[in-house]
Amino acid sequence: MIFLLDSHCDSPLMLVKGADFGKKVEQGYTPGKFPVTHTDFARMKKGGVNGSFYAIYTSNALAPDEATRRAFELISRVYDTVEQNGDKVALTTTVAQAKRNCKNGLISIFMGMENGSPIQKDLSMLRMFYRLGIRYMTLTHAGNNEICDSCAPKEKRWGGVSPFGRDVIAEMNRLGMLIDVSHLSDNSFWDVLKYSKAPVVATHSCCRALSDHPRNMTDEMIKALAENGGVLQINFYPAFLDQEYAAKFWDKADAFDIADKAWMKDQNNKELQDALKIATEEMNAIPRPSYKKIVDHIDHVVSLVGVKHVGIGSDFDGIETCPDGLEDISKMQKIIIELRKRGYKEHEIRLIAGGNFLRVMDAAQRLGEE
Ligand SMILES: [Zn+2]
Repeated sequence: MIFLLDSHCDSPLMLVKGADFGKKVEQGYTPGKFPVTHTDFARMKKGGVNGSFYAIYTSNALAPDEATRRAFELISRVYDTVEQNGDKVALTTTVAQAKRNCKNGLISIFMGMENGSPIQKDLSMLRMFYRLGIRYMTLTHAGNNEICDSCAPKEKRWGGVSPFGRDVIAEMNRLGMLIDVSHLSDNSFWDVLKYSKAPVVATHSCCRALSDHPRNMTDEMIKALAENGGVLQINFYPAFLDQEYAAKFWDKADAFDIADKAWMKDQNNKELQDALKIATEEMNAIPRPSYKKIVDHIDHVVSLVGVKHVGIGSDFDGIETCPDGLEDISKMQKIIIELRKRGYKEHEIRLIAGGNFLRVMDAAQRLGEE
């Protein structure tokens, strides 16, 4: 049986914005109607998705107490949603539980924390988030924090992982919480591999050899990640998948983000509504790469390190555009079909679809118990 796992979805953001995943939420931009989501439980089921890691994302721009508060807010929405949809989904923290859910026809909802800022400089807070169900932590996001440097800013703060970050890594290893290296600077990545006793994951990144962006991983990084027993989960974001698309995309995406933020604050303002519509149309006018690019990135990882170190982490509900042909989570099976077309055997597809990530999660949890 294939357990199809998506290791990174920004769905909690949509829950805070008022999305009801128990109801079908239409995809596509509708002025005056919000939120626009790539996922809901009916579409997950249609896409044959058995499990998803919901990202508890906080911006590096938030002050420490705000970040902590925001993380609790997002987690509380996930709890409420799961409780209200107990016939469809279950909050999940272990691989054994995920497999049981699958047998019982339930989708597993896991939680990962994207950016370690909410723990502030306090390992006790890290333990509290673990108790709430967080099973991986992306050490930082688009800024340098107390734990390590990000790939985004030019100016780095630590040159890799900070002294406190080393303590965080040790405590995550002890708890059996996965360390996520997506968004990290290259030096932070190498430091994590040096200090972590458990295999690590990149929950939503692509290959730099195919598309040169600091969010993507070099061949050397992929080889080292595999050697450590970890896994790279390919991101669906067209701007990471395809360099040609990215060259045209970033300016339009910035304009969209500005228009979107302005409209969010005053949703009945007709002028702001129109401005957002234009920004959206201009962004969407750039021809998007095919979803087959995702499989090109999978192929690349396989060619470097074999089938045991790659998977998928869509970044749905957190990206402005999706690949052509994979506009929302209901179309996930297209990846499986494309893998078959390219000659992958069923046992290999099982690994890529989720087996690899679950194996690494189990390994980290077992090491933690020792
Ligand atoms: Zn991210």
